[in-house]
Amino acid sequence: MFREELEELVVQEMPNCIGCNECMRVCPVSKDPGMTISMLNDPILSNTPPKGIVRDFALNCIQCGECVPVCPPGVRRDLMVLYLRANISSYPSNYENYVMLKQPNPSQIAKGLYAVKRRSAKKTLGNLYDKCDPKVLKKAKVLFYPGCYIFNEICHKTTAILDYLKEDYEVLGGYTSCCGWPQYLQGRMEMADEFLESLYKYIMKVDPEYIITTCAECFAALRKIKAMKNVKFIPLTTTEYFLSKADLLPLIKSKKAYGFHDSCHISRKYFRDEAPRILLSKLGEVYELKDNREQSSCCHYYNFENDAINYTNRKERIEQVKLGSDTMLTDCITCYEVFKEKMEKENLEIVDFNDLIFECIHKEASKEDQSE
Ligand code: SF4
Ligand code: SF4
Repeated sequence: MFREELEELVVQEMPNCIGCNECMRVCPVSKDPGMTISMLNDPILSNTPPKGIVRDFALNCIQCGECVPVCPPGVRRDLMVLYLRANISSYPSNYENYVMLKQPNPSQIAKGLYAVKRRSAKKTLGNLYDKCDPKVLKKAKVLFYPGCYIFNEICHKTTAILDYLKEDYEVLGGYTSCCGWPQYLQGRMEMADEFLESLYKYIMKVDPEYIITTCAECFAALRKIKAMKNVKFIPLTTTEYFLSKADLLPLIKSKKAYGFHDSCHISRKYFRDEAPRILLSKLGEVYELKDNREQSSCCHYYNFENDAINYTNRKERIEQVKLGSDTMLTDCITCYEVFKEKMEKENLEIVDFNDLIFECIHKEASKEDQSE
């Protein structure tokens, strides 16, 4: 499905390219100065694997979409580059490592490694351990889908908020029930197809009204499943869902300013940049970064660390936050993990909306304890 869709798009859009180079002028990843638009377009038009500097560039692309709005005839240059990636026959080790455990048909060794990972995370997973690739799922109004991020501590905060709201919910996460979007962004179209189909079957067991997720890529996959299968559930980010429940949450507004980092996969691609700002205005002050909303700068995750300038680009983002705040607030757990783990040395606090709401609930519970 994904491959056919891309092929169709290439046939429709590639002939419209006028070779103006605007897309490459704004592209934030490293590229050989000798690479021309026709060098980039040739393997797309001839449906052949990219080679040399074009292959390097295709692997460096972060799928941020910055190239799209600047294109005069409206060519989806991001997807044209993804098509190049999809035609690469062998990927570098950083790409391979990412999918070693996250593929529909992992090897016996990969299965064993994943089992070890799950067992060793049993304590931190706590009551989420049984939600990791579960065989049994109950029907519920809300499905919280953390996907592969079930191992992140943020998930406990999301479920604590759902408990506070007394929601009827189910949780689904783990590598076997991965959404497939990272594989799609790697160019592994068939793998992504399989994951999407398998996730659809998991979802149908719960038959929810809403599916909420902290991950922008899972959000993209859920939107795709909804459109593809014409199913009733509404996919929302946890930020959007909790904003819809703001009146029921004990939100406390502080004077603290947060540098809000828009996720390019939510704000630029889906224009969902308002809900986080409204929710943040109930919790603190919004400090707008230089590149915000649709102009947001990416966390540089989706080249799977193939590009040596990732660190410099992330540092630039960190510096934008530091101009007006000592805390970066993210709306997507990929951005959260990237900045927290890879930019640890930069001494910037990184938080997520689930952190802030959980803190409010915790403060209210402490007040009640004291008054008893
Ligand atoms: S998606 Fe981003 S990284 Fe990829 S070509 Fe476009 S601007 Fe460059
Ligand atoms: S901006 Fe559009 S038209 Fe210009 S080179 Fe890039 S894809 Fe082609």
